[in-house]
Amino acid sequence: MEKKPKNAGELRKTGYRILSVKEEMRKNLIDNIQKGERLFPPIIGYDETVIPAIENAILSGHDMIFLGERGQAKSRIMRHLIDLLDEEIPALAGCEINDNPFHPICKRCKELLKKDGDKAAVTWIPREKRYAEKLATPDVTIADLIGEIDPIKVAEGRYLSDELAIHYGLIPRTNRGIFSINELPDLSEKIQVGLFNLMEERDIQIRGFKIQLPLDVYIVASANPEDYTNRGRIITPLKDRYGSQIRTHYPLSLRDEVSIIEQERHTFEDNGYMTMVPQFMQEIVAEVTLYARKNPEINQRSGVSVRMSINNYENLLSNALKRAIRLEEKEVIPRISDLYSIIPSSIGKIETIGIEEKHEDPLIIEMVKKAVLTVFNRFYAPETFDTFLKKFSDGQNIEVSEATPSHEYLKKISEFGGLNKVISQYQPNASPSLAASLLEFILEGLYLNRKLSKEEVGNTTLYHK
Ligand SMILES: [Zn+2]
Repeated sequence: MEKKPKNAGELRKTGYRILSVKEEMRKNLIDNIQKGERLFPPIIGYDETVIPAIENAILSGHDMIFLGERGQAKSRIMRHLIDLLDEEIPALAGCEINDNPFHPICKRCKELLKKDGDKAAVTWIPREKRYAEKLATPDVTIADLIGEIDPIKVAEGRYLSDELAIHYGLIPRTNRGIFSINELPDLSEKIQVGLFNLMEERDIQIRGFKIQLPLDVYIVASANPEDYTNRGRIITPLKDRYGSQIRTHYPLSLRDEVSIIEQERHTFEDNGYMTMVPQFMQEIVAEVTLYARKNPEINQRSGVSVRMSINNYENLLSNALKRAIRLEEKEVIPRISDLYSIIPSSIGKIETIGIEEKHEDPLIIEMVKKAVLTVFNRFYAPETFDTFLKKFSDGQNIEVSEATPSHEYLKKISEFGGLNKVISQYQPNASPSLAASLLEFILEGLYLNRKLSKEEVGNTTLYHK
């Protein structure tokens, strides 16, 4: 729009049609589909499952609830729903609940329109301002979500039953927008009733006063599937209200898990240091999380978030960065010996069942071993290293640690022989830091395949026959 209408009269002249939130989202989605655009591009791994279900729900005009374990991008998806709103919409200026300039619902605006008519000022609300969210906890109140009688307004002479005596809560303030409630089952029953009345009967009840307030808010919610299906956690009429239940999930492939890690990891400006993560290290980090999601000693009902992969990856890189700084190397490339750094970032992400706290570290280390073995066997057949392994028969050994400079690894590689082809196959002209990382991967992989033995003393690992 070139020159935006500034009052109700100007707006009317443009022939502007006010749509309900659901109609507006539906219109924009149809537009998207016509253009062949993909919904929510930054969301990875849901192209064939969650996204099509969202599209259908929106085309059907359904209220949606997202069911899934923690860290499945539920809140992220809900925030992305604003992508389906118009860039901006007109509302009556000064209205607390973003009233429709042609058909206001609040008393103040009704009176204003009666008085000013077409001159009533219009403001334009950007879509980012039309979204609000709340994490449901048992102490969320009706006042927070719906509203409260404002004692000051009452003292000024308003009657309690007078709508003007209300201090609006979050939901009315999101009128003509999207409101999302995270962990819906944690809302008290009383508030669930209030929510249902608002959505279904379009009235709000505050302290026994019933006020007709036909809000237009698209209320989406999320919940853990366990809580949601649990009898008594959600009042039945509210449950029925949700036309579409959309089940989220963890990344279905290792590749998706890795893409999410790369997209979401925190990056800093590291002056002069170059970070490079070999594919096998990326896959090991993702694979650890995949094992955690299958581990019977971990509570799978609460799940293992993708955040575990992301935070582990960040710690791994931090450990590699410290080495680069200390050894005055410019390349930051993580190694197997950096993997201990992921213990602190893993522990908080899992809920163990029936094991003591002191046994949590070994649990993680066990999963790391499995992950390394899986990835190694995906990359190499152990026979690949026959020539290399022969050297160990002569009583030779290789010592590695997170603090060993990369060039010392190069020395070992040339001393032992049998690895040049493997390394150049992985990457022609591999840098010393990459070769070091690859050597540790090979040594640990051979150890886990029982082709080598190892001894760990402090931070140093000795591989031998
Ligand atoms: Zn108003």
